[in-house]
Amino acid sequence: MSFAVTLPDGSKKEFNEPVSVKELASSIATSLGKAAVGAKINGTVKPLDYVVDQDVEAAIITDKDEEGLDILRATAAFLFEAVVKREYDNIRLGQHEASEDGFFVDTDKENQIKVSELPKLEKAMQKAIKNGEKIEYTTMDKSELEGLFKDDPFKLDLLKNEADEVAVYKLGDFVDFGFEALLPNTGKIKQFKLLSVAGAYWMGKSSNPMLQRIFGTAFFKAADLEADLKRREEIKERDHRTIGRDLDLFFVDPKVGAGLPYWLPKGATIRRVIERYIIDKEVADGYKHVYTPVLMNLDAYKTSGHWAHYRDDMFPPMDMGDGEMLELRPMNCPSHIQIYKHHIRSYRDLPLRIAELGMMHRYEKSGALSGLQRVREMTLNDGHTFVELDQVQEEFAKVLKLIMDVYKDFDITDYYFRLSYRDPKNTDKYFANDEMWERSQKMLKAAMDDLGLDYVEAEGEAAFYGPKLDIQTKTALGNDETMSTIQLDFMLPERFGLTYVGKDGEEHRPVMIHRGIVGTMERFIAYLIEIYKGAFPTWLAPVQAEIIPVNLDAHSEYAKKVEEELNKRGFRAEVDNRNEKLGYKIRESQTQKVPYTLVLGDDEMNAGNVNVRPYGTEDQITMSLDEFINKIDADVKSYSRE
Ligand code: ATP
Ligand code: ZN
Repeated sequence: MSFAVTLPDGSKKEFNEPVSVKELASSIATSLGKAAVGAKINGTVKPLDYVVDQDVEAAIITDKDEEGLDILRATAAFLFEAVVKREYDNIRLGQHEASEDGFFVDTDKENQIKVSELPKLEKAMQKAIKNGEKIEYTTMDKSELEGLFKDDPFKLDLLKNEADEVAVYKLGDFVDFGFEALLPNTGKIKQFKLLSVAGAYWMGKSSNPMLQRIFGTAFFKAADLEADLKRREEIKERDHRTIGRDLDLFFVDPKVGAGLPYWLPKGATIRRVIERYIIDKEVADGYKHVYTPVLMNLDAYKTSGHWAHYRDDMFPPMDMGDGEMLELRPMNCPSHIQIYKHHIRSYRDLPLRIAELGMMHRYEKSGALSGLQRVREMTLNDGHTFVELDQVQEEFAKVLKLIMDVYKDFDITDYYFRLSYRDPKNTDKYFANDEMWERSQKMLKAAMDDLGLDYVEAEGEAAFYGPKLDIQTKTALGNDETMSTIQLDFMLPERFGLTYVGKDGEEHRPVMIHRGIVGTMERFIAYLIEIYKGAFPTWLAPVQAEIIPVNLDAHSEYAKKVEEELNKRGFRAEVDNRNEKLGYKIRESQTQKVPYTLVLGDDEMNAGNVNVRPYGTEDQITMSLDEFINKIDADVKSYSRE
């Protein structure tokens, strides 16, 4: 017997007998043998005990590689499973996964493992790590495993995806499968942490039973684990759901409707300011703002193609009993098309810009819902512009400028552009009109180049009805998300038979541009909460000035007067009249992140002054009320950088 192992640098090593991955690594270099945690054999990750006995390509994985970290985390997940089986009677295990964000294991029955029990489980894992228990790698017949798991519907379900011979790992009596590679001994784990518990539907489907998902992470180095835990802490601090609760901005209660947010007065104030801002901005930019119904005859969504392609994301239609079927709209496009069609249009009307803060409903999966970030009822800062084909480039540039202008006002700096084309090798997938595609893709690119903007090009990422530009931002969790979008559409004008009379007196088809500037109010405000960590700039802050009388009896009247003066001028001020200690009220004004805290005592009252503590500083500045009004006024206006 003789075979050759080809290494990543192209060199070959000859062997006369079967060799384990561990031995292979040692034969390359003793140090590599020590650092090895597995190998990629013909592209698949295998454990150290895997035996090579034929010609293969091999790349050793060490603790420096990403795959190495996955192996470590999978081993931690496996040990966690084994420990859970020892600690809880009759508990069943579901899916497990190791990834760049750590690992998770699903266990059956809701509320079986409490967060408070994680330290106990960590201790049990540490004990196994200290004992250095052997993790055995072997294979078993699928039928044998089906016998072993005969009372476990979850494992039986998972076994369906396995081949006849299944790679398994054993720790004492405990057996599990579905791991690419694990370390050979529990003693290798060392740096790990169990993080949290959440609910998760079996296989992610809401019609399936709810299981528990336990999250954890593991690293080779203590410093890496520490840095990761710190990063998670920071994410938590930014999480818009936590801040939304602490600042009393909104709530979502699954019992009254999952994904249907309630905007509390403070959250509603932020939203109102943004809505007014964006409407003013758009009207100034040539948009006509409208209101259209959230309900529409289902036929419109049949014509648009949404009913055929998007039905899973729509709420079921309402049968009105008289032949009429009404649909809660998932998009506003067909509504704005009705506005276009209401009059005969000529080239002189174009570009025609219709905009609306349009409420829409989408039946998002319950597992995907998250605070305001992903909801089922949302209001989109929507707009549709109808143009002649040769106006596309100019209009596109105009929308882009508006977007960048708006981002500046909100101090959004961390974003990038993604220009999406149709897949040139697969043009049948797209709405057919080659000339339109070619010309419009060129126009979008030219507009970006003219503006001197950097962008990523994504072939095959276009919508099936036209090319688009997405503006991508990052959430606190580090996920990419689309905030703004500009999409060309050749299809809907055709489907709805839109026309305009051209210069030549003939009928032509307009091109439609869908665009969202700040996206939905929900997702945008979730994003702002995260980037500002709840400390909204003065123009957006729900309360701009918190007025605290030093003594309720002596200074309340003056406080009221200051409040009235400020409110009369359109500032959002409120007096804290609660019977609490002064220090407590000042601290609370800080934790509520109010931009200005005004403390009013005898000195201030007698001189008609206010004592101002700007948020996030140690300053205490005494000034006249008029001076403060000028200061806050300048601050409120400072967002706009014309
Ligand atoms: P996603 O990929 O996030 O589901 P999408 O591509 O379906 O979004 P569009 O149809 O382009 O989104 O929707 C327009 C805007 O609505 C986007 O800017 C997005 O930010 C926002 N949005 C989409 N779905 C939701 C939702 N469930 N909750 C809140 N905002 C949403
Ligand atoms: Zn649209």
